[in-house]
Amino acid sequence: MPYTPFDPPRRTLMGPGPSDIAPRVLEAMARPTIGHLDPAFVGLMDEIKALLQMAFKTENALTMPVSGPGTAGMESCVVNLVEPGDTVIVCQNGVFGGRLKAMAERGGAEVVLVEDPWGRAVSPEKLEAALKAHPEAKIVAFVHAETSTGVLSDAATLASLARAHDCLTIVDTVTSLGGSPLKVDEWGLDAVYSGSQKCLSCTPGLSPITFSPHATEVVQNRATLVQSWFMDVSLVMAYWGTGTKRSYHHTAPINALYSLHESLVMLQEEGVEQAWARHERHHYALRAGLEALGMQFIVPEAERTPQLNAVSVPEGIDEAVVRRRLLDEYNLEIGAGLGALAGTIWRIGLMGYSSRPKNIVGCLAALGTVLADEGLSVSADEAVAEAQQVLAEQAAV
Ligand SMILES: *Cc1c(COP(=O)(O)O)cnc(C)c1O
Repeated sequence: MPYTPFDPPRRTLMGPGPSDIAPRVLEAMARPTIGHLDPAFVGLMDEIKALLQMAFKTENALTMPVSGPGTAGMESCVVNLVEPGDTVIVCQNGVFGGRLKAMAERGGAEVVLVEDPWGRAVSPEKLEAALKAHPEAKIVAFVHAETSTGVLSDAATLASLARAHDCLTIVDTVTSLGGSPLKVDEWGLDAVYSGSQKCLSCTPGLSPITFSPHATEVVQNRATLVQSWFMDVSLVMAYWGTGTKRSYHHTAPINALYSLHESLVMLQEEGVEQAWARHERHHYALRAGLEALGMQFIVPEAERTPQLNAVSVPEGIDEAVVRRRLLDEYNLEIGAGLGALAGTIWRIGLMGYSSRPKNIVGCLAALGTVLADEGLSVSADEAVAEAQQVLAEQAAV
């Protein structure tokens, strides 16, 4: 059977990522491919590094996109910093903390787990107790915005505790970069990784990372070789490092990097702080509408991350049926629960280019209509009106 070109359906992406990609970012990807050592490409690489420093709020020289998804950035931080026998404290309050733990264990670390309930922030008190109980600990790893539950943890406080006990930090900012306040240098974060397809609204498959001078020094002074040749940052930096002499390490995903550059230019045009504020404003508008539909957030107000709204599925509703109808009838994607929360929550993302009034209104109208049709006594019109009122109040300020 002859296959035909794939023409994807036109969706609105309001799940946990990927988010919608701005047309100009998609257009950037379609520009002609050039060589990965072409002087013009090397110039683009330097701009990407500078733009990532802007987004991360850092002056770290070791700042670059890993050629791979957020999980590759996570693995890159873990394999470069962890040596067999190291004690690593991993804070887990959702799916991604569990992935960090598994990676550290594979690297031969002695993992000390600091657990918090799914839907709650990482507890600084518990971390401090673990640091006191394990003076041999070398690294603290935690997730800033836990996308599986919609929780934002206090990265500044967690990092200062780690530093007070002479530990490096590995911080997952996959969902927070570009969406929530994140200040790598001011907060003293050491090895930080993110993803391209959440609040940066870029094509999936790239993972910005940044290493502090301290983390870089620890990598340079390892007793053992980094177990992964591909991810060893001291080798990667021969290509991504500074200066005009760059040597081949691997073929960069050229066109994907065009799109990362474009999305970072968009972030610069908007302003990093303004992007954070937009995500927060839109969260309030969506929240008003979701609450008008009788939905409850699973995370206490002070611990919510604005770009990922986790709400309980109303009693008597089959969550998969609703998601399927939203996709089929409205071309709208929202997220299901992961792990322990599968089947009981929805995760509604307002990330990057997806975080727009049009999407808030469209999502509430579609969700309200489907829920009413499934037998709930709710009004889509009321939910939309509540959200629009919040948006109007915000516009008036
Ligand atoms: C999405 C996500 C990841 C993994 O990113 P991939 O690009 O799917 O590999 C890791 N951590 C968090 C918090 C995420 O939201």
